[in-house]
Amino acid sequence: AFNFSAGPATLPEAVMRRTQEDLLDWQNTGMSVMEMSHRSADYMQLAHEMEADLREVMVIPDNYKVLFIHGGASLQFAAIPLNLATSDDTVDYLNTGVWSTKAIKEASRYTNVNVIAGGETANPTEIPPMSEWKFSDDAKYIHVCANETITGLELQQEHMDFLFAQGKPVIVDMSSNIMCREIDVSKYGMIYAGAQKNIGPAGLAIVIVREDLVGHARDITPTLLNWQTYAGFESMFNTPATFAWYLAGMVFKWIKDVGGVKAIAEVNQRKAEKLYSYIDSSEFYENHIAVDQRSWMNVTFSLTKEGLDAEFLAQSKAAKLLSLKGHKAFGGMRASIYNAMPEEGVDALIEFMQSFADQHA
Ligand code: PLP
Repeated sequence: AFNFSAGPATLPEAVMRRTQEDLLDWQNTGMSVMEMSHRSADYMQLAHEMEADLREVMVIPDNYKVLFIHGGASLQFAAIPLNLATSDDTVDYLNTGVWSTKAIKEASRYTNVNVIAGGETANPTEIPPMSEWKFSDDAKYIHVCANETITGLELQQEHMDFLFAQGKPVIVDMSSNIMCREIDVSKYGMIYAGAQKNIGPAGLAIVIVREDLVGHARDITPTLLNWQTYAGFESMFNTPATFAWYLAGMVFKWIKDVGGVKAIAEVNQRKAEKLYSYIDSSEFYENHIAVDQRSWMNVTFSLTKEGLDAEFLAQSKAAKLLSLKGHKAFGGMRASIYNAMPEEGVDALIEFMQSFADQHA
């Protein structure tokens, strides 16, 4: 089966097979990683390797802290303003869809949010033109969602370069496109991502933050929302999500094994291009996202003939192409083709889509 779920999402088959083997006896310890003290030497080695591997695959400079935090990406929606702004400060947010809106709503509880652009509709299909972006002079940081998972709308390098040029810390939610291509981490203030798409199991968030941005949390910040707490205790102030760390560590090793983010990006580009070009070439399917802002990770499409969605989903499921139903807020279909989705999965999907279209021509 190929699982196109948007998250929790498919994980590399090699990783899942290895996990199965490890479950009863990890590295001859006589127990699984889930049953082991996080302070044990064996586990500490796993934790150190995980961080080192992530630093290697993303080329994270030494002046960045890598934190592993519970609570998923959404908890960072609150942590970001609490760590970086006072209640009197202003912060800049770009609104490109549902996930941006959630981040804005949460930040607005703690500080003054200026929306740079967007927000007129819940699910925009294009990024507001940069000529319309209105930054505030004194923003403490600029926040964007790099890839809106629901629609499959992705910020492009030109957008990022424009943001970097503002000279403020750029904070990016990369939950659904982290490690899908190479990036220059040194340009960012802070990068965060929920693990359940390109990294591992849900519940864990990866935070990569420039060290000068750590240590300024407001007094009222809960201890476990303060980045300093994680930075000071190797993300082990309390019991970490040990199994999630183990799996994330395995995924980072898998990325290294298959040639690093560069190699994965080549496959990702090919997968996305072939699926979009099939959709564009077919009269039976359409994608509504601005062509040059289409996500590599979440490909949304709808059927041009009405009343066939349920049948499409039933048949695709029977063909072992799983979880293709689009998010209810946007409708239609969505094929999430994260790093772990093999190219054959995309080929099989295209073949199925064509045969379904032929059936209903
Ligand atoms: N940001 C984006 C872009 C997402 O796609 C998601 C979840 O799908 C989240 C944030 C929220 O992540 P979590 O459920 O880990 O809080």
